[in-house]
Amino acid sequence: MSTYNQLIHQYKRIFVEKGLSPELVKAFLFELCNDHKVNLYLNIDQEVDEDIMVEFSKGVVRLMNNEPMNYVLGYSYFYGYRMIVNRDVLIPRPETEELVGLILSQYDAFFAGKRINVCDVGTGSGAIAIALKKEEEKLRVYASDISEKALETARENARINECDITFLPGSMLEPYIEKGIKVSILVSNPPYIKATEQIESSVYDFEPHVALFGGDDGLKFYKEIFTHASEILEDNALAFFEMGYDQKDALTKLAHSYFPDAEVSVFKDINGKDRMLMIRF
Ligand code: GLN
Repeated sequence: MSTYNQLIHQYKRIFVEKGLSPELVKAFLFELCNDHKVNLYLNIDQEVDEDIMVEFSKGVVRLMNNEPMNYVLGYSYFYGYRMIVNRDVLIPRPETEELVGLILSQYDAFFAGKRINVCDVGTGSGAIAIALKKEEEKLRVYASDISEKALETARENARINECDITFLPGSMLEPYIEKGIKVSILVSNPPYIKATEQIESSVYDFEPHVALFGGDDGLKFYKEIFTHASEILEDNALAFFEMGYDQKDALTKLAHSYFPDAEVSVFKDINGKDRMLMIRF
């Protein structure tokens, strides 16, 4: 048996040889230890716990195969909440946490304390919907997805985070229109990558394409939502979208053409990239 330190060094060498980031080894082991309530740093010269060794050996093979670490672990954190992730759902991104932050601040500015309906269109793991409900109990949150498997994961995430969300199967705004549900805040992180865009192989090979690609111009799903938005929005509603860093011009133009009277704003993420679109109707 080896110690944690020896295990890290052994695999760092292997990762370097394979052209993979050696930092992944310690990061992965750190997560496994945390999950077993073992402090990696205090135990660095101790023998590796047997259960941890078994999980490490299985998982490290997947990491070497370029699978994203959160899929290997089976969970991720979003806005401080633990979310189950698997290959049916996108791994929640830090940019999307910023979208949640923006929505919460705008809720305070425009609806402070009011009980309003919110919908998360294309919820995937449920991350946005769950974070909003956890942070603002007064919101009545609906979340939909075309993928039944994604909804299963989202429901499980709502259960483990103990929050009450109404999940609806269906494409874009269809389930809301069918059920006559109206909302004051519409949120979506739709698939927005252009069909032809080259993306990282670990994303392309492992994450669900249905959640990534938004047609030739990446705008397909925004158009779909914009087309039907008026059917589900209350008066004085707000809509929030995540977007690609290079879509500001195309998307603001699109938003103005659909909603000439609305106020359209774009916000940057922490990396200075245009990332969030807000429409105030
Ligand atoms: N931000 C994601 C990525 O870069 C894409 C998410 C999306 O298309 N909504 O992989």
